[in-house]
Amino acid sequence: MKRKDFLPFARPCIDETTIEDVCESLRSGWITTGPKSIRFENAFRDRIGIPYALAVNSATAGLHLAHLALGIGPGDEVITTPMTFVATLNTIVFAGARPVLVDIDPGTFNMDPAKLESAVTPRTKAIVPVHFAGLPVDMDEVEAVAERHGLAVIEDCAHALGASYKGRTVGSDPRHVSVFSFHPTKNITTGEGGMVCTGLEEVAERISILRQHGMSKGAWSRYAVTGTPHYDVALPGLKYNMLDIQAAIGLGQLGQLEAFNARRATIVGRYRKAFSGVEGIILPATPTYEHTHAWHIFTPMLQLDRLDISRDDFMALMKAENIGTAYHYQAVHLFEFYRKTFGFRPGDFPHAEKVSERILSLPLFPSMTDSDVEDVIEAVKGILGKHLKKGVKA
Ligand SMILES: *Cc1c(COP(=O)(O)O)cnc(C)c1O
Repeated sequence: MKRKDFLPFARPCIDETTIEDVCESLRSGWITTGPKSIRFENAFRDRIGIPYALAVNSATAGLHLAHLALGIGPGDEVITTPMTFVATLNTIVFAGARPVLVDIDPGTFNMDPAKLESAVTPRTKAIVPVHFAGLPVDMDEVEAVAERHGLAVIEDCAHALGASYKGRTVGSDPRHVSVFSFHPTKNITTGEGGMVCTGLEEVAERISILRQHGMSKGAWSRYAVTGTPHYDVALPGLKYNMLDIQAAIGLGQLGQLEAFNARRATIVGRYRKAFSGVEGIILPATPTYEHTHAWHIFTPMLQLDRLDISRDDFMALMKAENIGTAYHYQAVHLFEFYRKTFGFRPGDFPHAEKVSERILSLPLFPSMTDSDVEDVIEAVKGILGKHLKKGVKA
């Protein structure tokens, strides 16, 4: 039966205390980067367990700054995955470097570390693993290649807040620069926003300066009672700082992270149970290494050879049931700019292309009710049942 109201694939969950705290910032006379941004950075730093956490206005900004601060630029190559949001590659390009891709593992959708070594050239400067959907990449494998070739590692942790790998919190490796996103669909939000984590003191220092015009001091340390008005500019910077209005949301959200992620995991558990053994759908694989999944998104694949519809048809049929779905991701190397500029072609990364044709994201957010989850399960099973090809056995 069709739902009465539309169920989106994601929805932020902001409590009244947090809304009050945003109002408090608005009324206080200090709305840009200031005391709450500093509190949010400190709370985040402690949650991850990392020496430096720097708040920025998006993960895209954070990724851009990570490349700049590591001195990556024209003539350099950076290795990443085609199965990611385009910002992962755009920021490599904006730093002036060339994105080099390696194919994914077709079960986990993460970069396949076994393919890394052969992608390294004398120009390679960094690897950017993306913890797809919140599943940690096999970082020991990535680390081994990075160490052998003296490469920097920038972790795209946009999906992975709260995840852990072999007992270590994702984003806590002090040798890396790790970037989190607080876009409204992510595990926690600040409206828009991001956080850069690292243990590299000089990189942190450079990011801190680059995120605000290259000034040696931010507005808070110039205009506040205790501030002094002078500053220097050692290099030209950008305008990537986080507002206190955003940090107020972030502080409220961070306090609920464990509860949010626990609810996400429960919902995924229901989906997995309901869809296991169901023809027409393939569930994401679970790697054997020890990990905690952050479940930013739940992305099964459709078994297209068993169905008489495409993935896009399936998404349209879900929408007709009043249920939103999303597409993470169209393989990045096939976007026009990337084909034209870097010569990528269909067939370059067959696993990513095959997954890209079959994957979709089902609704997943902490305030989904059990009956919302049941509606999704019923709709998925109903559509699959109607569109299984007759007489074909898998
Ligand atoms: C969301 C996302 C980003 C960009 O985050 P913003 O905060 O929106 O800039 C980067 N990489 C991945 C994998 C993402 O999902």
